[in-house]
Amino acid sequence: MMTQLASETPTARGARSGESLRIERVTKRFKQGDTWVEALREISLTIQQGEFLAVMGASGSGKSTLLHVLAGLTWPDEGHISIDGTDLSRLNDSQLTSFRRRRIGLVFQAFNLIPTLSAADNITLPLMVEGRRLPSAELENLARRLGIENRMHHRPDALSGGEQQRVAIARALVTDPALVLADEPTGSLDSVSGQNICRLLRELHEQEKRTIVVVTHEPTVAMWAERIVVLRDGRVLTEFATRDFSDAHSLAAHYQDIVQAQDDEVAR
Ligand code: ADP
Ligand code: MG
Repeated sequence: MMTQLASETPTARGARSGESLRIERVTKRFKQGDTWVEALREISLTIQQGEFLAVMGASGSGKSTLLHVLAGLTWPDEGHISIDGTDLSRLNDSQLTSFRRRRIGLVFQAFNLIPTLSAADNITLPLMVEGRRLPSAELENLARRLGIENRMHHRPDALSGGEQQRVAIARALVTDPALVLADEPTGSLDSVSGQNICRLLRELHEQEKRTIVVVTHEPTVAMWAERIVVLRDGRVLTEFATRDFSDAHSLAAHYQDIVQAQDDEVAR
Protein backbone atom coordinates (compact mmCIF):
# COMPACT_ATOMS: atom_id res chain seq x y z
CA MET A 1 0.00 0.00 0.00
CA MET A 2 0.92 3.66 -0.14
CA THR A 3 3.47 4.17 -2.85
CA GLN A 4 3.68 7.82 -1.86
CA LEU A 5 4.66 6.96 1.70
CA ALA A 6 6.92 4.09 0.75
CA SER A 7 9.16 6.50 -1.13
CA GLU A 8 9.47 8.56 2.04
CA THR A 9 10.50 5.55 4.10
CA PRO A 10 12.96 3.79 1.82
CA THR A 11 14.27 1.46 4.50
CA ALA A 12 10.91 0.09 5.60
CA ARG A 13 10.52 -2.19 2.58
CA GLY A 14 14.13 -3.30 2.42
CA ALA A 15 13.88 -4.12 6.09
CA ARG A 16 11.47 -6.92 5.27
CA SER A 17 14.12 -8.84 3.40
CA GLY A 18 15.60 -10.80 6.30
CA GLU A 19 16.98 -8.44 8.91
CA SER A 20 15.80 -8.88 12.42
CA LEU A 21 15.08 -7.26 15.70
CA ARG A 22 17.73 -7.87 18.30
CA ILE A 23 17.70 -7.40 22.05
CA GLU A 24 21.06 -7.86 23.72
CA ARG A 25 21.46 -8.17 27.46
CA VAL A 26 18.84 -5.57 28.21
CA THR A 27 18.24 -4.61 31.82
CA LYS A 28 15.54 -2.19 32.92
CA ARG A 29 15.05 -1.07 36.53
CA PHE A 30 12.26 0.88 38.14
CA LYS A 31 12.34 2.62 41.48
CA GLN A 32 9.51 1.57 43.76
CA GLY A 33 9.68 3.51 47.00
CA ASP A 34 13.12 2.85 48.47
CA THR A 35 13.91 -0.17 46.35
CA TRP A 36 14.71 -0.88 42.72
CA VAL A 37 12.80 -3.49 40.80
CA GLU A 38 14.49 -5.18 37.87
CA ALA A 39 11.70 -5.49 35.32
CA LEU A 40 14.10 -6.93 32.71
CA ARG A 41 17.30 -8.77 33.66
CA GLU A 42 19.91 -9.07 30.96
CA ILE A 43 17.36 -10.32 28.53
CA SER A 44 18.49 -11.32 25.04
CA LEU A 45 16.19 -12.18 22.19
CA THR A 46 16.31 -12.17 18.41
CA ILE A 47 13.19 -11.85 16.32
CA GLN A 48 13.31 -12.72 12.65
CA GLN A 49 12.04 -10.47 9.94
CA GLY A 50 8.39 -11.28 9.28
CA GLU A 51 8.09 -13.50 12.35
CA PHE A 52 4.92 -13.64 14.46
CA LEU A 53 6.03 -13.92 18.08
CA ALA A 54 3.96 -14.12 21.24
CA VAL A 55 5.40 -13.16 24.61
CA MET A 56 3.72 -14.87 27.55
CA GLY A 57 4.30 -14.70 31.27
CA ALA A 58 2.55 -14.00 34.54
CA SER A 59 1.55 -10.50 35.55
CA GLY A 60 4.68 -8.55 36.52
CA SER A 61 7.06 -10.79 34.55
CA GLY A 62 8.21 -7.86 32.39
CA LYS A 63 6.15 -8.30 29.22
CA SER A 64 4.99 -4.70 28.89
CA THR A 65 8.41 -3.37 29.80
CA LEU A 66 9.94 -5.50 27.05
CA LEU A 67 7.45 -4.12 24.54
CA HIS A 68 8.10 -0.56 25.70
CA VAL A 69 11.86 -0.80 25.32
CA LEU A 70 11.39 -2.46 21.93
CA ALA A 71 9.20 0.44 20.87
CA GLY A 72 11.68 2.98 22.16
CA LEU A 73 9.06 4.30 24.57
CA THR A 74 11.51 3.86 27.42
CA TRP A 75 15.29 3.50 27.52
CA PRO A 76 16.92 0.36 28.85
CA ASP A 77 19.42 0.89 31.69
CA GLU A 78 21.81 -1.57 30.11
CA GLY A 79 22.09 -3.44 26.85
CA HIS A 80 21.19 -2.74 23.27
CA ILE A 81 18.18 -2.92 21.03
CA SER A 82 18.47 -2.81 17.29
CA ILE A 83 15.65 -2.79 14.81
CA ASP A 84 16.47 -3.50 11.18
CA GLY A 85 20.10 -2.76 11.95
CA THR A 86 19.44 0.57 13.69
CA ASP A 87 20.78 0.65 17.25
CA LEU A 88 18.11 2.62 19.12
CA SER A 89 20.66 3.89 21.64
CA ARG A 90 22.40 5.80 18.83
CA LEU A 91 19.30 7.88 18.16
CA ASN A 92 18.54 11.09 20.01
CA ASP A 93 15.03 11.72 21.32
CA SER A 94 13.64 13.32 18.20
CA GLN A 95 15.25 10.75 15.90
CA LEU A 96 13.80 8.01 18.07
CA THR A 97 10.33 9.55 17.96
CA SER A 98 10.52 9.82 14.20
CA PHE A 99 11.86 6.27 13.87
CA ARG A 100 9.06 4.94 16.03
CA ARG A 101 6.35 6.83 14.17
CA ARG A 102 7.47 5.55 10.81
CA ARG A 103 8.69 2.07 11.52
CA ILE A 104 6.69 0.72 14.45
CA GLY A 105 2.94 0.26 14.83
CA LEU A 106 1.73 0.09 18.41
CA VAL A 107 -1.47 -1.49 19.68
CA PHE A 108 -2.57 -1.40 23.32
CA GLN A 109 -5.11 -3.23 25.44
CA ALA A 110 -7.08 -0.04 26.10
CA PHE A 111 -7.13 0.99 22.40
CA ASN A 112 -5.93 4.53 23.32
CA LEU A 113 -8.15 6.25 20.77
CA ILE A 114 -8.88 9.97 21.03
CA PRO A 115 -12.55 10.18 22.08
CA THR A 116 -13.34 13.46 20.32
CA LEU A 117 -12.05 12.33 16.92
CA SER A 118 -13.84 10.16 14.36
CA ALA A 119 -12.43 6.74 13.53
CA ALA A 120 -11.04 8.17 10.28
CA ASP A 121 -9.25 11.00 12.09
CA ASN A 122 -7.91 8.63 14.74
CA ILE A 123 -6.47 6.43 11.99
CA THR A 124 -4.76 9.24 10.10
CA LEU A 125 -3.48 11.04 13.21
CA PRO A 126 0.08 9.57 13.06
CA LEU A 127 0.45 11.04 9.58
CA MET A 128 -1.17 14.37 10.46
CA VAL A 129 1.29 15.00 13.29
CA GLU A 130 4.06 14.72 10.69
CA GLY A 131 2.26 17.06 8.30
CA ARG A 132 1.44 14.25 5.91
CA ARG A 133 -1.93 13.13 4.65
CA LEU A 134 -3.43 9.91 3.42
CA PRO A 135 -5.23 9.90 0.07
CA SER A 136 -8.87 9.02 0.75
CA ALA A 137 -8.70 5.96 -1.54
CA GLU A 138 -5.92 4.54 0.65
CA LEU A 139 -7.86 5.24 3.84
CA GLU A 140 -10.83 3.42 2.29
CA ASN A 141 -8.60 0.51 1.37
CA LEU A 142 -7.18 0.24 4.85
CA ALA A 143 -10.63 0.49 6.45
CA ARG A 144 -11.99 -2.19 4.15
CA ARG A 145 -9.11 -4.52 4.95
CA LEU A 146 -9.94 -4.17 8.62
CA GLY A 147 -13.70 -4.46 8.11
CA ILE A 148 -14.49 -1.02 9.50
CA GLU A 149 -15.33 0.81 6.28
CA ASN A 150 -18.82 1.65 7.56
CA ARG A 151 -17.53 3.03 10.84
CA MET A 152 -15.21 5.75 9.63
CA HIS A 153 -17.38 8.71 10.73
CA HIS A 154 -18.15 7.32 14.17
CA ARG A 155 -16.41 8.40 17.34
CA PRO A 156 -14.89 5.67 19.51
CA ASP A 157 -17.77 5.64 22.04
CA ALA A 158 -20.16 4.66 19.23
CA LEU A 159 -18.03 1.62 18.36
CA SER A 160 -17.84 -1.83 19.93
CA GLY A 161 -14.60 -2.87 21.63
CA GLY A 162 -13.65 -5.06 18.69
CA GLU A 163 -14.27 -2.19 16.27
CA GLN A 164 -12.25 0.20 18.42
CA GLN A 165 -9.33 -2.22 18.38
CA ARG A 166 -9.62 -2.48 14.58
CA VAL A 167 -9.44 1.30 14.38
CA ALA A 168 -6.38 1.21 16.64
CA ILE A 169 -4.77 -1.42 14.39
CA ALA A 170 -5.54 0.67 11.32
CA ARG A 171 -3.87 3.62 13.08
CA ALA A 172 -0.87 1.41 13.79
CA LEU A 173 -0.67 0.45 10.11
CA VAL A 174 -1.15 3.87 8.58
CA THR A 175 2.59 4.57 8.40
CA ASP A 176 3.15 1.14 6.81
CA PRO A 177 5.44 -0.13 9.60
CA ALA A 178 7.47 -3.30 9.19
CA LEU A 179 7.06 -4.01 12.91
CA VAL A 180 3.78 -4.17 14.84
CA LEU A 181 3.90 -4.44 18.63
CA ALA A 182 0.73 -5.25 20.56
CA ASP A 183 0.37 -5.32 24.35
CA GLU A 184 -2.55 -7.57 25.41
CA PRO A 185 -4.54 -6.47 22.33
CA THR A 186 -7.44 -8.76 23.21
CA GLY A 187 -7.39 -8.08 26.95
CA SER A 188 -10.45 -5.80 26.82
CA LEU A 189 -12.44 -7.87 24.34
CA ASP A 190 -14.88 -10.77 24.50
CA SER A 191 -13.45 -14.03 23.20
CA VAL A 192 -15.05 -13.85 19.73
CA SER A 193 -13.84 -10.29 19.08
CA GLY A 194 -10.48 -11.27 20.52
CA GLN A 195 -10.11 -14.20 18.16
CA ASN A 196 -11.06 -11.95 15.24
CA ILE A 197 -8.30 -9.53 16.22
CA CYS A 198 -5.86 -12.46 16.38
CA ARG A 199 -6.94 -13.58 12.91
CA LEU A 200 -6.29 -10.06 11.66
CA LEU A 201 -2.80 -9.98 13.18
CA ARG A 202 -2.09 -13.35 11.61
CA GLU A 203 -3.11 -11.98 8.21
CA LEU A 204 -0.78 -9.01 8.63
CA HIS A 205 1.98 -11.50 9.25
CA GLU A 206 1.11 -13.94 6.47
CA GLN A 207 -0.07 -11.63 3.71
CA GLU A 208 1.96 -8.49 4.37
CA LYS A 209 5.07 -10.08 5.91
CA ARG A 210 5.09 -7.72 8.83
CA THR A 211 6.92 -8.66 12.01
CA ILE A 212 4.36 -9.01 14.80
CA VAL A 213 5.08 -9.20 18.52
CA VAL A 214 2.05 -9.80 20.73
CA VAL A 215 2.16 -9.79 24.50
CA THR A 216 -0.54 -11.94 26.06
CA HIS A 217 -1.23 -14.27 28.96
CA GLU A 218 -3.93 -16.13 27.01
CA PRO A 219 -2.92 -19.39 25.27
CA THR A 220 -5.83 -18.91 22.83
CA VAL A 221 -4.11 -15.71 21.66
CA ALA A 222 -0.53 -17.00 21.75
CA MET A 223 -1.58 -20.01 19.65
CA TRP A 224 -1.89 -17.71 16.61
CA ALA A 225 1.82 -16.89 16.71
CA GLU A 226 4.63 -19.04 15.32
CA ARG A 227 6.84 -18.92 18.38
CA ILE A 228 6.19 -18.27 22.03
CA VAL A 229 8.70 -16.81 24.44
CA VAL A 230 7.82 -17.16 28.12
CA LEU A 231 9.10 -14.52 30.53
CA ARG A 232 9.54 -14.93 34.23
CA ASP A 233 10.95 -12.30 36.57
CA GLY A 234 12.39 -10.31 33.69
CA ARG A 235 14.16 -13.26 32.07
CA VAL A 236 13.34 -15.64 29.25
CA LEU A 237 12.20 -18.80 31.02
CA THR A 238 11.71 -20.87 27.87
CA GLU A 239 10.45 -20.72 24.32
CA PHE A 240 8.69 -23.09 21.99
CA ALA A 241 7.01 -23.32 18.59
CA THR A 242 3.22 -23.34 18.36
CA ARG A 243 3.35 -25.91 15.54
CA ASP A 244 4.29 -28.48 18.19
CA PHE A 245 0.82 -28.13 19.69
CA SER A 246 -2.42 -29.37 18.17
CA ASP A 247 -4.60 -26.74 19.81
CA ALA A 248 -4.78 -24.03 22.46
CA HIS A 249 -5.74 -26.62 25.10
CA SER A 250 -2.52 -28.58 24.77
CA LEU A 251 -0.57 -25.33 24.63
CA ALA A 252 -2.28 -24.11 27.82
CA ALA A 253 -1.49 -27.42 29.55
CA HIS A 254 2.16 -27.20 28.56
CA TYR A 255 2.36 -23.58 29.69
CA GLN A 256 0.82 -24.47 33.06
CA ASP A 257 3.30 -27.34 33.47
CA ILE A 258 6.25 -25.02 32.84
CA VAL A 259 5.00 -22.39 35.28
CA GLN A 260 4.17 -25.04 37.88
CA ALA A 261 7.59 -26.70 37.58
CA GLN A 262 9.23 -23.33 38.08
CA ASP A 263 7.04 -22.57 41.10
CA ASP A 264 7.99 -25.94 42.61
CA GLU A 265 11.66 -25.23 42.06
CA VAL A 266 11.38 -21.85 43.75
CA ALA A 267 9.51 -23.41 46.69
CA ARG A 268 12.13 -26.12 47.14
P1 ADP B 1 3.79 -7.42 32.84
O1 ADP B 1 3.44 -6.59 31.64
O2 ADP B 1 4.36 -8.76 32.50
O3 ADP B 1 2.64 -7.56 33.78
P2 ADP B 1 5.50 -5.19 33.57
O4 ADP B 1 6.51 -5.11 32.51
O5 ADP B 1 4.36 -4.22 33.53
O6 ADP B 1 4.95 -6.68 33.66
O7 ADP B 1 6.21 -5.01 34.99
C1 ADP B 1 7.38 -5.73 35.37
C2 ADP B 1 7.83 -5.25 36.74
O8 ADP B 1 8.26 -3.90 36.66
C3 ADP B 1 6.73 -5.28 37.80
O9 ADP B 1 7.32 -5.62 39.02
C4 ADP B 1 6.23 -3.86 37.82
O10 ADP B 1 5.72 -3.54 39.08
C5 ADP B 1 7.48 -3.08 37.51
N1 ADP B 1 7.19 -1.82 36.78
C6 ADP B 1 6.77 -1.72 35.50
N2 ADP B 1 6.63 -0.43 35.13
C7 ADP B 1 6.96 0.31 36.23
C8 ADP B 1 7.05 1.72 36.48
N3 ADP B 1 6.72 2.62 35.54
N4 ADP B 1 7.43 2.11 37.72
C9 ADP B 1 7.75 1.21 38.67
N5 ADP B 1 7.71 -0.12 38.48
C10 ADP B 1 7.33 -0.58 37.29
MG1 MG C 1 1.63 -5.73 31.02
